[in-house]
Amino acid sequence: MPLQHLLNSPVRTATFLFVLLLSLISMGLQAQETAAPVQVKQGEVALITLTLEPDVQSVVGTFLGQSIPFFKKNPDAFAAIVGVDLAQPIGPQPFSVTWKKKESIGRQEYVIDVISASFGTQDLKLPKAMVDLDPPTLARVEKEQEQQKVIFNKSSDQRLWEDDFIVPTEGKPMGKFGFRRIMNGQARNPHTGEDISAPLGAPVLASNGGRVILVGDFYFNGQAIFIDHGLGLFSMYFHLSQIAVKEGEVVTKWQTIGSVGQSGRATGPHLHWGVRLNGARVNPFSLIEKKFG
Ligand SMILES: [Zn+2]
Repeated sequence: MPLQHLLNSPVRTATFLFVLLLSLISMGLQAQETAAPVQVKQGEVALITLTLEPDVQSVVGTFLGQSIPFFKKNPDAFAAIVGVDLAQPIGPQPFSVTWKKKESIGRQEYVIDVISASFGTQDLKLPKAMVDLDPPTLARVEKEQEQQKVIFNKSSDQRLWEDDFIVPTEGKPMGKFGFRRIMNGQARNPHTGEDISAPLGAPVLASNGGRVILVGDFYFNGQAIFIDHGLGLFSMYFHLSQIAVKEGEVVTKWQTIGSVGQSGRATGPHLHWGVRLNGARVNPFSLIEKKFG
C-alpha cells in the first residue's frame, strides 16, 4: 500500500519518512551518514530499530522469504534481529517492513546489502568411518538431521530472551565459523557454529533465556542441547559430556545446562556453539555485540 494512502498530509508524510530515515541510520549502522543499504556480512546479524508512532500495534518484516518478527523495544520503538545465512550470495536484498495500526497498515522497503565474509578453509583428518558413512550410519544421520530440522519451525511467538547474550563457556574461540571444511580430502558442509576450546567438564551456560526444545545424543553433534529463545532465534550447544536440562524446561541466562565434552564427531574437548535465526545460520559472536534492551 502506498504511504500516501496511510498518511493524510504531505508534511506529515515527510516527517514520517524523516523519522524512518533516522531510524534506518540507527539500525546498528553507526557511522553511516545516509540511509543507504544496511550492510551485513555473510553469517552475521543486524539489529534493526524502527521508531514509529505510538499507536502502531505490531511490526513484521520479510527478508529472503522469511518472516522477521519485530518486538517492542521501548514505548516508541520496535526492533528485530535479521540474520544473513553464511552461504547467502553477496549483493543487495529487499527487506520489507509492514506495521499495523488499529485501522490501517503501513509498509516500507529497505535494502540489506550482503557483503562477503571471506571465510577460511579447515583441513581435517578424521577416522575414515566418521567421514565415509556406512549405510546404517547414513540412515541414522539423515533421521537425526530431520529431527533437528523440524524444531526450527516451532519457535515461540514470544520473545524469551532479554538484554544481551553471553558467551556460554570460558575458553578460547577458535574463529572457525563459516570455514569450508575439507575432510580427508573431500569437500563437506561449512562449519555452521563457533568452536570454543575449553577443558573437559567445564560448565556450559544458557546464553540467554529460552526453552529447551531438543536434547539428544547425535552422531555428529554428540550430546546436544537446542534452546528456543522465541521469535525464530535458537542457540545450540554440541559435543557435551553431560546434559543438565530436559526437553521443555524453561532456562534462564547464566543457568548451567551441561558440561564441555568431546562427544560426537570431535577431535578434542570443546563447545560447538551455534545460532540459527529465522532460518539463517549465523555466527553466535555477532549476537554478543548487540544490546537488545
Ligand atoms: Zn564445531
